[in-house]
Amino acid sequence: MITAPFDYEAPESLEEAIRMLHENGEDAKLLAGGHSLLPLMKMRLATPTVLIDLRRIPGLHGIQQQNGGWRIGAMTRHADLQDTPELGVVARAASLIADQQVRNRGTIGGALAHGDPASDLPNVVVTLDGEVVARGPNGDRTIACSDLFQDYLTCSIAHDEAITEIHLPALEGYGFSYQKFTRRAEDWSMVGVCAMVSRADDGSCDDVRIGLANMGATPLRATAAEDALRGGSLDEQSIAAAAEQAAEGTDPPGDLNATPDYKRHLARVLTRRALEEAVSV
Ligand SMILES: Cc1cc2nc3c(=O)[nH]c(=O)nc-3n(C[C@H](O)[C@H](O)[C@H](O)COP(=O)(O)OP(=O)(O)OC[C@H]3O[C@@H](n4cnc5c(N)ncnc54)[C@H](O)[C@@H]3O)c2cc1C
Repeated sequence: MITAPFDYEAPESLEEAIRMLHENGEDAKLLAGGHSLLPLMKMRLATPTVLIDLRRIPGLHGIQQQNGGWRIGAMTRHADLQDTPELGVVARAASLIADQQVRNRGTIGGALAHGDPASDLPNVVVTLDGEVVARGPNGDRTIACSDLFQDYLTCSIAHDEAITEIHLPALEGYGFSYQKFTRRAEDWSMVGVCAMVSRADDGSCDDVRIGLANMGATPLRATAAEDALRGGSLDEQSIAAAAEQAAEGTDPPGDLNATPDYKRHLARVLTRRALEEAVSV
């Protein structure tokens, strides 16, 4: 399993990296943690001729509070997210990604740009209605995470753009849960469910967000289940009834681990568990 030959560049500024991307066209690829790109290169499913390493570029790492939300640099590692409990469901989901070795290298920017619907952070940022900032030859543009993921392993970042930061709302006062079902510990999700719930003063459901991983070609929101719960009671029966609608409008692919029907079943079960946990915290 040896990669095709490639050149390696390690620019020290973002401008230099964007220029290299632009000049080399589709043959160039950014390198972040390498934990998705290098396996693809070793299997020769990706054969870039130039790798542009982002690790020496200042300003792409770190987590800050900003405008009542969070600003997370694209090169921030899963391990850094996991070690920031103030991030709530983001920290929880990051702690469930693979093993510590992967979390020590993998980055949020790489995970979003890779666009794997079975990945956990794409699911979380869609659930939170986050935004990414991408830098290209013509400057910065902001993309809503709901518009970021277009198809399987395909997102709306151009070949000469780099994600520089991710903006997420703090969603203070929301209870949260991240539920993930795997055949073996540390695997990708067979199905993953992210749930956020806030209560009104009378205890009813003020807002609810439910995100699904691996239930289609992109991360999805379980909008039928959200609509069933929003504005109503958060008791056990209401949650169970809403969770029954979790798989509506989804089109999960069958794979070695599960049939589409089994994934729909998992989505319903995990959504109920996620909502129950989210209302209990
Ligand atoms: C054994 C194993 C198990 C895993 N299990 C899970 C899991 O359970 N859940 C999960 O969510 N993930 C899992 N992953 C994936 C892991 O989270 C990856 O680290 C992540 O998907 C990619 O991040 P990276 O920083 O390694 O990106 P890289 O592999 O470096 O890059 C991935 C892609 O994104 C592009 N890219 C990188 N950074 C940017 C940027 N800033 N702007 C634009 N494009 C960019 C690259 O060019 C490449 O196309 C696993 C990986 C491995 C190896």
